[in-house]
Amino acid sequence: MLNIALFGPPGAGKGTQSEFIINEYNLCYISTGDLLRKEIAEKTKLGQEAESIIAAGQLAPDEIIVQLIEKTIVTNPYTNGFLFDGFPRTYMQAYILEGLMIQHNSSLNCLINLNVNQDLTVQRLLERGKSSGRPDDNKKVITKRLEEYNEKTHPVLQFYREKGILKDVDGSQTIENVTGQIKDILKEELKNSLYNVVLFGYPGSGRGSHGEALAEKFGLEYIATGPMLSQEITKGTEIGKSIEEHYNSGELVPDEVVVTLIEKRIEESTGNVQGYIFKGFPRTLVQSYMLDGMLKKHGSKISQIMEIKVPTLELINRLDKRRDTDKKKPYDSNTQKIIKRLQDHKDTTVPVFKKYKSLYGSVAIDGFGTHDQVFERISKEIENGMSS
Ligand code: AMP
Repeated sequence: MLNIALFGPPGAGKGTQSEFIINEYNLCYISTGDLLRKEIAEKTKLGQEAESIIAAGQLAPDEIIVQLIEKTIVTNPYTNGFLFDGFPRTYMQAYILEGLMIQHNSSLNCLINLNVNQDLTVQRLLERGKSSGRPDDNKKVITKRLEEYNEKTHPVLQFYREKGILKDVDGSQTIENVTGQIKDILKEELKNSLYNVVLFGYPGSGRGSHGEALAEKFGLEYIATGPMLSQEITKGTEIGKSIEEHYNSGELVPDEVVVTLIEKRIEESTGNVQGYIFKGFPRTLVQSYMLDGMLKKHGSKISQIMEIKVPTLELINRLDKRRDTDKKKPYDSNTQKIIKRLQDHKDTTVPVFKKYKSLYGSVAIDGFGTHDQVFERISKEIENGMSS
C-alpha cells in the first residue's frame, strides 16, 4: 500500500496536487475539508455541528474528523492506498492517523510538506475566493485559518520529522514543478512499497495460470521467464535470435540474457505496478542471488514466497493431459520425460525454494482442487500479505 499525507498551510496547493497523485497512483482520496463540506451540503448531524466552526476558520473537533475518515477507510478495503489532504491537522490527529493505519494493518509512507510563505498563501486564497464559492475564502476567515495553522497544525511537522518520514517540497513554484518534485518522492516510496511474490511449485502445479490471473487481480507485473524468452524469438529481436540459437543447440539460455530481459521489464513497468510476481525464475541458486541483487538495485526486495503443493501422481496426471493441449511443453511428450523434468526441478529449484523459505518464510498452498478454489486460496494469502 502507498499511504501519503499532503501537508501545508491553506492555499499551499494540496487540493491541486492531490488530483494528479490520485489519478497517477490510483489512491483513495481523503480530504477532510471536502468530507466536511459534503456533510454540510447534505445537512447531516455532523455537518450541522461543523458548519459554524468552519465558517469561523477554526478547526473541527477530532471526534467529527475521526468519524468521517473511518467511514471512508472502511468503505475502501481494497484500495492501493490512501492520500490524506488536510489531515492530520493537530498533534492529536497525528496519533489518530497512526491508530487508523494500525487498524488497517498498514502505515503512512510519508508526509509531504508543501512549503509556502504566508503572503503567497493569502494571495492564492483571495484569488480562489473569487470563484470557489467557499465561505471561508475571505480575508477575515483566511487570517483566522492561518492563525489556527501556525498554532495547531505547523507543530505536527515535528512528529513526522522525528519519525523520519517528512518530505519537504517548495510549494511556491509552478504547479508543474511542484508535481515534478512530488513525483520524484513518490517514485522512491513506491519502490519501497512494491509487493514482490515468488511463486514456487513443481511443473504442473498451476503456477502459470494462477500467476497470470493473480497479476491481473493485484496489479502486479507477471514475470515468467519461459514465455518471455519465447516472445523474444517470435518478435525476432537480436536477443530473440541468440535465444533461438541456444534453444536449437539444446543449451540453456545464459543467465545474462534472462536477467537483461527481466531488468528491462522491471524498468519499463516501474511506477505503474504494485509489484512483481515471478514464476520460473529464479530456477537455480545462482539466479536467486541475481534476483536479490536486481530487486535491491531497484530499492526493493522479496515480500512473499508461495509454494503451490500438488501430489506427484496428480502432477504426472496433469502433465500427461497437457500434452493434448496448446499449453504443451516439449517434456510433456512422454511420461518418462515428465518424470525426468520433475526430478530436475527437485534437484535445481527446490534448493532455491528452501533458501527463500528459511529467509522469508513461505506460504504453502494446497494446489489440489478446481482452478477457482486454488486461486481463491492464493488470493487470500496475497491479500493478507499485502495489507500487513
Ligand atoms: P480545507 O478544505 O482542508 O481547507 O478545510 C476547510 C476547513 O475544514 C478547515 O478550515 C477546518 O475548519 C475544517 N477541517 C478540515 N480538515 C480538518 C481537520 N483535519 N481537523 C479539523 N478541522 C478540519
